[in-house]
Order: sequence, then C-alpha cells, then structure tokens
Amino acid sequence: MRKNIVAGNWKMNKNLQEGIALAKDLNAALTADKPNCDVIICTPFIHLASVVPAVDASIIGVGAENCADKVSGAYTGEVSAEMVASTGAKYVILGHSERRAYYHETPEILKEKVQLALANGLTPIFCIGEVLEERQQGIQNQVVFDQLAGSLFDLSAEDFSKIVLAYEPVWAIGTGLTATPEQAEEIHAYIRSVIAEKFGAEVAENTSILYGGSCKPSNAKELFANPNVDGGLIGGAALKVEDFKGIIDAFK
Ligand code: PEP
Repeated sequence: MRKNIVAGNWKMNKNLQEGIALAKDLNAALTADKPNCDVIICTPFIHLASVVPAVDASIIGVGAENCADKVSGAYTGEVSAEMVASTGAKYVILGHSERRAYYHETPEILKEKVQLALANGLTPIFCIGEVLEERQQGIQNQVVFDQLAGSLFDLSAEDFSKIVLAYEPVWAIGTGLTATPEQAEEIHAYIRSVIAEKFGAEVAENTSILYGGSCKPSNAKELFANPNVDGGLIGGAALKVEDFKGIIDAFK
C-alpha cells in the first residue's frame, strides 16, 4: 500500500532559532494529536543537524531541499547527499521548479542528484509540473512525461520504487491559485499510468504522488480525497504549525 504523506518545504525561510522552534512546536502538536499520514519537514541545510534531534523520528521525518550533483570535492558552497544523510535527514526534495527555473537545474543534473541521493539512502521527493503557458497550450502531460523520462527512466524499478513524486503545477506555487481536485486527479492518474508503463503496475500502485501548489487547510481534504493524490508538498502553509497541522488533519 502506498503511503499518504504531507511534506513541508520551508524554502529560504526561518533562521536557525526560528526553525528549531517551529520544528519543536510541530512535534509537540503532533505528539499530542498523532497524524494519520507520514509527515516530513524539509529545511534549509544549516537547520538539518539541529532539527533532526528536535523531533520524534517516529512522527516527523526530516529532509533537505536540495543536494549537490557531485560526490565531493572542490565545489565551493555545495552540500552533498552524503553530508545531508550524515545529519540523520532521510529525505531530499529534488527538481523543485524554483531550482529548475532560478538555478538552471536540467534533467541531466537532476538525474545525477537522484542517483546520489539514493546511493546515500535518502528518499528523493522528486518534483514535476508545468508552467502556465504549457497548461494553456494543453501540453502538461507531455511536460511531466519529459521530466520523468529525463531524470528517472534510467533507474531500475527497485530504485524508482524508493522515490516519492510531487506534481506541482508551477502556476499554483505560492500564487494562491490551486489546481482543481479534478485537474489534480487527472494528471496524477496520468503520471501513475506512465509509471505503470515504464516500471510495472505494482511499482505504480505503490508510488506516492503528492500534490503541491497553494495547498491549505481549506482545500487539502478535497484534493487528498482523490484516489491518485496521496498527500501534499506544502510551501507557505508549512511555516505555521496551525496551517500545516490543518493540512495534515485532512487525512483524519
Ligand atoms: C512548493 O513550493 O513546493 C509549494 C507547493 O509552495 P506553496 O504551497 O507555497 O504554493
């Protein structure tokens, strides 16, 4: 059975003290009222080593928002998958649209990152999704197919089965616009059919596909009720315990 997951992406928000406080507050709220899904928080690199011991690993998993496409060496400012794993973090977001757009991460670069994450025991939360013009042209399925094929189709079925996918229409990220539950279900079902074709029906059935893009407590239940939507990747609403827990509670 695939897992239902609510994952937060803090992006470049919260200094170290604020981040530790947020993690502790979330941990207290979820200890008092246990979630019915897996919960993950993905934080800036410098927070990881402090946030991991601040939360109960049986309730909250911790992840990075990125990792390097190289093993180690003279890559000033980069942080390797091995370094991320050495903090106790278990996840890493890869291919977020902001990384693709602002830092020019190509499918080839992301392929390297995915392989290094897996080699270091991290679960990649791999993001795909179309921009507004692509949705308007009706080519969103082709866009997500190309993103999957470009970075993940070289994996074995066994390795692919370790990945969590996040479908995030770029036009819905941080904009207040949300895909309708019907739009989300339609493309999630398509993504699952692509996985089935490439890696087999069992792998497809067991892959968690999260929705991301202006998800909030008021729309999470409707989105997550779809058979092919297995939770959410949450940006802005992950920065407040009340909002993030409100989304987590959509699974109750
Ligand atoms: C994201 O960046 O992954 C995201 C979904 O952001 P937001 O929830 O703020 O739209």
